[in-house]
Amino acid sequence: MREVTVLGATGSIGKSTLDVVGRHPERFRVHALTANRNVEAMARLCREYRPRVAVMADEVSARGLRERLAGEAAAPSVLAGEAAVTDAVADAPRGIVVAAIVGAAGLRPTMAAVAGGHRVLLANKESLVVAGPLLLAEAERGGAELLPVDSEHNAIYQCLPAGYRRGEAERRGVNRILLTASGGPFRERDPSTLHTVTPEQACSHPNWSMGRKISVDSATMMNKGLEFIEACLLFGMEPDAVDVVIHPQSVVHSLVSYADGSVLAQLGNPDMRTPIAHALGAPDRLAAGVEPLDLFALARLDFERPDPARFPCLSLAEAAMREGGTAPALLNAANEVAVAGFLDGTLAFTRIAAVIEATLARLPAEPAESLEQLMLADARAREIATEWLRQGV
Ligand code: NAD
Ligand code: MG
Repeated sequence: MREVTVLGATGSIGKSTLDVVGRHPERFRVHALTANRNVEAMARLCREYRPRVAVMADEVSARGLRERLAGEAAAPSVLAGEAAVTDAVADAPRGIVVAAIVGAAGLRPTMAAVAGGHRVLLANKESLVVAGPLLLAEAERGGAELLPVDSEHNAIYQCLPAGYRRGEAERRGVNRILLTASGGPFRERDPSTLHTVTPEQACSHPNWSMGRKISVDSATMMNKGLEFIEACLLFGMEPDAVDVVIHPQSVVHSLVSYADGSVLAQLGNPDMRTPIAHALGAPDRLAAGVEPLDLFALARLDFERPDPARFPCLSLAEAAMREGGTAPALLNAANEVAVAGFLDGTLAFTRIAAVIEATLARLPAEPAESLEQLMLADARAREIATEWLRQGV
């Protein structure tokens, strides 16, 4: 029986994870769940999955949750605050921790999870983008097993040679990684109309159902930019050996190209329960409730090159990866501010890239030596990006 802790349990990934976990009561037991402020959703999850510990982001939400669950059988112990999240991870019996908080807010809890030597299922790509080398070093020190659940990275992980370790590409004959992208909802929309798109339109992804922040990132293709950084770091690939390929059907989740001419791909319906089940069960395969892939219904698979003029965020992210140091953290923080501005109606969709670019122009990247320095860079980029948002870029 493995103990599972889900950070960001009320989100899209959190709920997909619990759906898979709930299908295998003989294998998994839920230890702790954490969420931001959605008391109602957390109460429902506590009733269904019976965690021992539940953590909310603040005391008001924690009190709300305690009141809702008062007198019920097996009510969890309810705690509040970021320190309580990291404590819950530190106190968890060695098992599985699912890092599914959105944004850089997930960094410290994810750090705690890898330091604790758990099997860590990484959905929170922003924590890797902000502090990649430090997070990976901490995972090695803690003896953690870091498994990607981002569908593309999970696909790459499945297609790499057995026992592949970061940085072994050349020795193992791995030539290139082909990172697929759907192109999002605006792949074919007239670019001259993009400034009018609404948050609702940006969040209506053609293939995937996801949280709002990552949905906007998919529409700008910053999501693929963050994933480009994620792939280089996780698999120790040179940026020039990772190609982004637009594949509108989202069925080929990514590919690995080998020295002998073989290209391995992982396919499946676009449903996050597949990569989550893979990472929960590895090396075993678990039933995940996912519809089997019907190639005859699908009939065709298309591939095309991304258009850098339509998707400037992708180029900004690739440049930040090449620059290294604090550059990815600055990029990520500016993006979080710009996306929040777009979602609350203060920034036009087409200005998201402009805010990021203007912020990066003001803050030259530095070598990254500590978590504190990266958090400072993150805070500084948020300030500058917020200023640009207020003044207009
Ligand atoms: P979501 O918005 O649906 O859920 C986010 C979760 O994090 C919620 O439980 C929320 O309560 C919690 N949270 C948010 N802010 C917090 C804070 N400041 N402190 C503590 N908890 C906080 O997001 P999602 O779509 O589930 O994405 C989660 C992560 O997984 C993101 O990093 C995203 O990039 C990544 N991811 C998501 C998908 C997907 O299909 N949804 C796919 C690949 C990767
Ligand atoms: Mg992805």
